[in-house]
Amino acid sequence: MPEKSRYAALFESVQIGPVTAPNRFYQVPHCTGMGHALPQTLVAMRAMKAEGGWGVVCTEYCSIHPSSDDHPYPFAALWDDGDLGNLAAMADAVHAHGALAGIELWHGGSYVANLASRAPTLGVRSMPGRTDPIQSQRMDRRDIRALRRWHLEAALRARKAGFDIIYVYPSHGYLVSEFLSRSLNERTDEYGGSLENRMRLMRELLDETRSAVGDRCAVAVRFAANGHGDEHLSGDEAHDVVAALGQLPDLWDVVLADYDEEMGSSRFVREGALEDRIAYVRKLTGKPVVCVGRFTSPDSMLGQIKRGVVDLIGAARPSIADPFLPTKLREGRLEDIRECIGCNICYAHNFRGSALRCTQNPTMGEEWRSGWHPEQVPAGTGGSVLIVGAGPAGLEAAHILGKRGYDVALADAAGEAGGRVSHESRLPGLAEWARVRDYRLGQIKRLPNVALYLGSHMAAPDVRAFGADYVLIATGAHWRREGIGRWHARPIAALDAANVYTPDDIYAGRLPQGEVLIFDDDHYYLGPVIAMKLASAGVRVRYVTTEGRAGAWSLYTQEQERTQRALIELGVDIEANSALVAFEKSIATLACVFSGRTRSVAASAVVLVTSRVADETLYRALVGDGDDDQPADVLAQPGPAAVARIGDCQQPAMIATAVYSGHRAARELGSAGQVPRRERVLI
Ligand code: ADP
Ligand code: SF4
Repeated sequence: MPEKSRYAALFESVQIGPVTAPNRFYQVPHCTGMGHALPQTLVAMRAMKAEGGWGVVCTEYCSIHPSSDDHPYPFAALWDDGDLGNLAAMADAVHAHGALAGIELWHGGSYVANLASRAPTLGVRSMPGRTDPIQSQRMDRRDIRALRRWHLEAALRARKAGFDIIYVYPSHGYLVSEFLSRSLNERTDEYGGSLENRMRLMRELLDETRSAVGDRCAVAVRFAANGHGDEHLSGDEAHDVVAALGQLPDLWDVVLADYDEEMGSSRFVREGALEDRIAYVRKLTGKPVVCVGRFTSPDSMLGQIKRGVVDLIGAARPSIADPFLPTKLREGRLEDIRECIGCNICYAHNFRGSALRCTQNPTMGEEWRSGWHPEQVPAGTGGSVLIVGAGPAGLEAAHILGKRGYDVALADAAGEAGGRVSHESRLPGLAEWARVRDYRLGQIKRLPNVALYLGSHMAAPDVRAFGADYVLIATGAHWRREGIGRWHARPIAALDAANVYTPDDIYAGRLPQGEVLIFDDDHYYLGPVIAMKLASAGVRVRYVTTEGRAGAWSLYTQEQERTQRALIELGVDIEANSALVAFEKSIATLACVFSGRTRSVAASAVVLVTSRVADETLYRALVGDGDDDQPADVLAQPGPAAVARIGDCQQPAMIATAVYSGHRAARELGSAGQVPRRERVLI
């Protein structure tokens, strides 16, 4: 660390009870979609954060007992000594890099469904869970005593596994927060009624955890500083909880009641947005405080420390997008930081029950599976590579191939790099997505062996004439104009083509006017974002979707409710469960997706957001239609046959998929490629 670095304060150690964090970079508990199901994947991923300089690295939510089972989401578990080995491996791997390991003990209460364990779910009262048609068992005093015992036993196991920081978790709607709720908690005994009684369980768990493990481990609490909504625990009551229990834990990890905001996407929530709600905690307790804020700017981090808001910079997403963020900052390499774009694709994949991945960091989740390191790539075997298309896939491939030492030419027909990311980042709320382009352009600029040619449309003869040893085609995809997508297997028969628009028209500045109908059969962000853009410009917008909600898939990215609210507030008419089946003479015909019943609405223009077609003309001109047999990995050897496609040109998908595709191709070029390892149960 340079002596006079303006960020030196971020690298000061922090005493947390009996343990010392080596710096202020704290990876808070975050789910991974790995948990108990993919332990080796998890260990390698967490270890990478420690290697990258995070001073504390925590687990995800770690169940203390089979009555808290969030299947099919792969949570962590510490149900018995059989679970010790996997978690100890994580703690050891984190310690090997000088970081502290934290563990978030968790009981899901009524929220979970115990689909795998089939144990009855437990609640402060009997109530329905999040999704399934079951209700929890109301806990009596015996159940409460049992819960306290499970927590204590789990804490002892966590200490045995080598963890340094052990959490009590009374937030996010899980069991202990049910007790805090004045609405849900109807008890008339010492656990219900007054705030003092409602927080009794929280106090007991803190006390008992400290008595059991406090000699060697710090006790942390994860608490919503603004309460859980007036109905449950008001902001004032949350304040009173902090005042009453302030000294009990060694660390306050403060969060917000509203998960949509705490981990809000960049479409709706800015960096450091939690500050005004959480700043009081540190003043009240005097104990170290950590809080997230999707911090990627070191000045924002420093500001929070200097203003006395927090002692530790909490991060989940910034540590996913760049496990080496602290190291880069320490070495003064700010321009090398891969900043999170706030898209929440990471969270979405946990929500889909699959392992974590990241738009910005294609190595995330691949540390064990593919043996990938986010900062290191194998040296290449030499030669030249032509990449056609400088969207996310082409940019990523150029960056990695450049780092591997190849002579790289990156050509794009457009006058700017970035492909779809450049277009989409100009839409409302998506500005931060440009970081996908800017990070890579920044890296490429410093590589003398990578040349970027803009305004260079390439046809097959141009590619052949270029004579590169390897060719990667990254020409992307375009939106369909005839309605084919999830709902329509064939083109919509009656379609007034002159008044049909696609997202590509919107990108090009060709905006529809009058009464505009957007038909969203894609279900992610683009349909709603285009609706917002047009409605904000005063256009009358009718948003039609075959799903039950606007941007239904964005449920997984924690954006759906805010999306729908934003559309409503902008005066957009939302027609759910409806398909556009015809559009002629300023009349659009909509069909109910259940009954097929049709009705007509006025529309002067229609925007179709249905599906895309890969732009593979160039690829096909070079390789034909697959009539010849090809080796499985065409990029293993240089030569005229070493032509492959990557990104949306291969498979129109998410930006994360395109970046990953470009990364894998670039990392494996010149070798036989690799089949990723699998974690599987063998009998
Ligand atoms: P991906 O997401 O796979 O990276 P994009 O659609 O974002 O794909 O980017 C594709 C890029 O390829 C665009 O910038 C486009 O201008 C460029 N492109 C498409 N066809 C050609 C071509 N024949 N020659 C040069 N550039 C091309
Ligand atoms: Fe950030 Fe998106 Fe990566 Fe998540 S997936 S860490 S939100 S860039």
